[in-house]
Amino acid sequence: MANGSLSVDTEHLFPIIKKWLYSEKDIFVREVISNACDAITKHKRLVSLGEAADDGTDYRVTVSVNKDEQTITVTDNGIGMDAEEVDKYINNIALSGALDFISRYEGEGSSGIIGHFGLGFYSMFIVSEKVELFSKSYKGGEGVHWICDSEGNFNSEACEYEGHGTRIIMHVADDETAYLDTVKLRTILERYCAFMPYPIALTDAEGKENVINDTDPLWQRNPQDVTDEQYNEFYKKVFNDYQDPLFRVHVVADYPLNFKGVLFIPRRKTGYDSTESEIKLFYNSVFVADNIKEACPDWLVNIKGVLDCPELPLNVSRSYLQNDVYVRKIASHIAKKIADRVNYLFNNEREALEKNWRDMKPYFEYACMRDEKFAERVNDSILIEKVGGGFCTVKEYLGEGNEGGDIYYTNDAAAQSYYVDMYRQKGKDVLIFDNLIDNNYAQFLESKNDKLKFKRIDSAFGEGTDGGDSEALTGLFRKASGKEELKVAFADLGEDGAAALISLPEEGRRIADMMRMYSISSGNPEQFDFPADECLTINRANPVIKALEQDERSEDAEDKAKLIYLSALLLSRTLKAEEAKEFIRLNNKFLAK
Ligand code: ADP
Ligand code: MG
Repeated sequence: MANGSLSVDTEHLFPIIKKWLYSEKDIFVREVISNACDAITKHKRLVSLGEAADDGTDYRVTVSVNKDEQTITVTDNGIGMDAEEVDKYINNIALSGALDFISRYEGEGSSGIIGHFGLGFYSMFIVSEKVELFSKSYKGGEGVHWICDSEGNFNSEACEYEGHGTRIIMHVADDETAYLDTVKLRTILERYCAFMPYPIALTDAEGKENVINDTDPLWQRNPQDVTDEQYNEFYKKVFNDYQDPLFRVHVVADYPLNFKGVLFIPRRKTGYDSTESEIKLFYNSVFVADNIKEACPDWLVNIKGVLDCPELPLNVSRSYLQNDVYVRKIASHIAKKIADRVNYLFNNEREALEKNWRDMKPYFEYACMRDEKFAERVNDSILIEKVGGGFCTVKEYLGEGNEGGDIYYTNDAAAQSYYVDMYRQKGKDVLIFDNLIDNNYAQFLESKNDKLKFKRIDSAFGEGTDGGDSEALTGLFRKASGKEELKVAFADLGEDGAAALISLPEEGRRIADMMRMYSISSGNPEQFDFPADECLTINRANPVIKALEQDERSEDAEDKAKLIYLSALLLSRTLKAEEAKEFIRLNNKFLAK
């Protein structure tokens, strides 16, 4: 029989624990359960070393609630303690650990701390007015019954105890009885203990035992032993999604980094999705904290994942994490592994990669622009969609042995279909850049390789421009379009080709696009007119043009030119109201003849 008071300091200790951890009270559950699991691990280890008898223990932790008695009971069949050990580990070490912890972090506020390891055993007093402990060591001997009130006064005596292990009874304080609700308790257990290494069974209100955890978390396994389905199930369960992820990477890093993790890119659902990343940090399968974004490259938006870092000092503030070299190394290692995974999929599962690529592309284009090292690694695996189906890389587009060249793209294959067809008939692929980020990415690639030029299909007509000139036609079209400065060029676009086409030189159009974006984003979306340097390319080979050239002085010549001009506009964009009206008037006029 032993009586005592924990320490002279304790009269201050418990109020501080209670007040200070008020916002994170739930962590007492994690602490009690992780101690129970630790005790089991110790027993298992002793058995494997031959230092404890192999008694075939079916290792588990049970949690139950008694509403009438206002108690929560946690029982394990681990190593157990004798009276001496209770005195040593609970009365002395656990308490001094807690005191030390508080003296170090007092003033920092609970929000600044991620793990609360170290507070351990005594965190039970956050919600308990009294804690009882029954225990018996695997070595046998007498059991011990220890009881401690919230002022730190304890009493310990011998007792009967069946088998080995520890039972802890928390007498929940009157203002914390919400914890006696098994639904609430289950939620907390699922948050903190979902992947602890031994079955944790919660007895529900009906008296049924439910195991709440997965004792073999997927990230601890060898990636070769995990199937796609298992990754998908894991993702959906842990991150509450109903859709499979777009992409995943499983990282197992050895010395010196020593961490494991699985990261996912979710499929986007609606425009209202959050793009916040969510990284759950674990310490040997024990949940520590959410949202440790610092451990991932910051250009990875909307990533979900778990990281298990047994190396990370856990009693640290967030600001420490943000500046920690180890954390930065984790992030750059992850970046490398993501690149490896993209390259692996490109080389081995290209079909699967292409299936999801449309949704994945913005992530990787952004990633390349933000991280040059990443860009260098994945460059040859970044796919671009082709009009008419299929994907290719820049390298594939340019063809074997070509470092540079022109790459033709469209930002709206339907609206620019006439141009698209012109290119495809010539056997050229047209790429689809239908996202703002595609254009930025193209510019990024150009900046890395000056032999590379991305050209929108309406920017020029390349070969075929004969440079010849007809003063008369140029004048006629300038008059008809009402634009005295209109640029006019001549080309052979085939006998059956359109009489004229609008082209917009790439450089000027990019600037105009930027200005349009700017005027929209600055809340000033004035009608932005066609950039001034639109060019009208006249198809010399077209019979209508040939006839018009012969007949440019006739009274209908100007109206004909106007109709040709409006038709050209129509192939490149939607007509404005006035233009459409004029287009119909001219149609009526000529069709009635
Ligand atoms: P820590 O777990 O970081 O060592 P705690 O305050 O959580 O600190 O626990 C203090 C000590 O009490 C443990 O190291 C262990 O020796 C002992 N202990 C706590 N819970 C149990 C248990 N269920 N079974 C056996 N020993 C326990
Ligand atoms: Mg502990």
